[in-house]
Amino acid sequence: MISLVNSADSALRTRAQRVIPGGLWGHMNAANLPEGYPQYFAHANGCRLTDVDGRSFVDLMCAWGPIILGHRNPLVEAAVHEQSMQGDCMNGPGPILVELAELVVDMVPHADWCLFGKNGTDATTSCVTIARAGTGRRKVLVARGAYHGAVPWCSPSVAGVTEEDRAHLLHYRYNDLASVDAAMERAGADLAAIVVSAFRHDFGFTQELPTPEFAHHLRSVCDATGAALVVDDVRAGFRLDLRGSWERLGVRPDLSAWSKAIANGYALSAVTGRDWLRQAATEIFTTGSFWCSAVSMAAAVATLTELRRLDAPAHMRLMGERLRQGLAERAAHHGLAITQTGPVQMPTLLFQDDPEWQKGSAFCAETLRHGAYLHPKHNMFLSCAHTAADIDAVLDAADAGFRFIAR
Ligand code: PMP
Repeated sequence: MISLVNSADSALRTRAQRVIPGGLWGHMNAANLPEGYPQYFAHANGCRLTDVDGRSFVDLMCAWGPIILGHRNPLVEAAVHEQSMQGDCMNGPGPILVELAELVVDMVPHADWCLFGKNGTDATTSCVTIARAGTGRRKVLVARGAYHGAVPWCSPSVAGVTEEDRAHLLHYRYNDLASVDAAMERAGADLAAIVVSAFRHDFGFTQELPTPEFAHHLRSVCDATGAALVVDDVRAGFRLDLRGSWERLGVRPDLSAWSKAIANGYALSAVTGRDWLRQAATEIFTTGSFWCSAVSMAAAVATLTELRRLDAPAHMRLMGERLRQGLAERAAHHGLAITQTGPVQMPTLLFQDDPEWQKGSAFCAETLRHGAYLHPKHNMFLSCAHTAADIDAVLDAADAGFRFIAR
């Protein structure tokens, strides 16, 4: 185990405890970190990350998704620099807004229009608001346990949340058609939207890809009732398919929420939608002081253009397959039973018979000590900066982690 006692990291944590509630909010709180994991980072480049104590790791979390071309990608940084020399936060957007909107509408087949915000939560919340405005109805179906953001309608915590905040939410189980039908029946004529994650990527659990039957069923019940099908592509967007994660299933949503990877780490989110919701998207009031900042839009144009040029999902798939196969071989070599699920570009590794993730956390801590930053519960993320040599370095580190657990 790496000791963080007397480290720069622990000094920062101690100072933070005094001035920041809980030391840090949300998913990056120390309580959620495996033993020995650093909380603070000094710099990052490509697929490598260096903590404040100077330890470097091959990064398999990619800032929890946003980093898709690699940290500090030169093309993105050049676009950012050029735009910041012109202006960022002005009295209105720069021309880059229209360029970006044209690019997104061109890339995403269901998109007749798009609008931008900062966080994924902005995008998912706007989708729900647009669906309600466009249908004049209230009920929204969401999968039990799915994450769609950090505001009262969808927060995983109930602290500070009222029943009224969620009065019109109804739940179904991912990939379970009967549970969708049961929730639809409860919604009756008041169904505004069905919100669905690109795949089932719930924290700490086996990941599930949508079955074609499930995806087509959601499309057809939305068509039959006039409700909006909303795909939350905030996490998976641009890693599985640049056109939208459900395009391969032959199912096009009415609205999609995007963020994370759209601007390679710069704060931006997007809603894409179909024409029948254009008027609703015009009528709702959605905005923010920083939502027209030109720098993150310039980062997004550079990112999306480069993702297209590279055929990014294909590269990440190749690297992901190498990782999955290598991890399976090494775990088997040590006689360990692991479960690898989710798309290979966004892998989740869980140990069998490990309900409290103790083996997973110990494995990650030892793997970290050997130079790779993995996660024991959350899906991980590959980027275009990962090469075969980087994946092999991860596998060598993981081998040490598996050996530790086998002992
Ligand atoms: N939807 C999904 C599927 C997400 O994974 C996230 C973020 N993890 C969000 C919405 C919310 O995005 P943000 O944290 O940028 O508000």
